Amino acid sequence: MLVESELIGHAVPVALTRYGPKEELSPSLGTKCPLCGLGFKVGDYTALVRSTRHSKYGDARIEVHCDCATKVPG
Ligand SMILES: [Zn+2]
Repeated sequence: MLVESELIGHAVPVALTRYGPKEELSPSLGTKCPLCGLGFKVGDYTALVRSTRHSKYGDARIEVHCDCATKVPG
């Protein structure tokens, strides 16, 4: 059984749903993807992941590029 502590420090995809492409009115345009540090721009696809590293709240959702979310780190 996967326990919560094993997930600390990793961005864990949550039923990886693709959102996008971003449009000019998207509220998160310019927000930096925490995985690659690049800002979201028009045409990008993103996904929401659960992060235990970037938030003190264990169930926080953060938006990242879809490509970044599916890339295996390291
Ligand atoms: Zn990214």
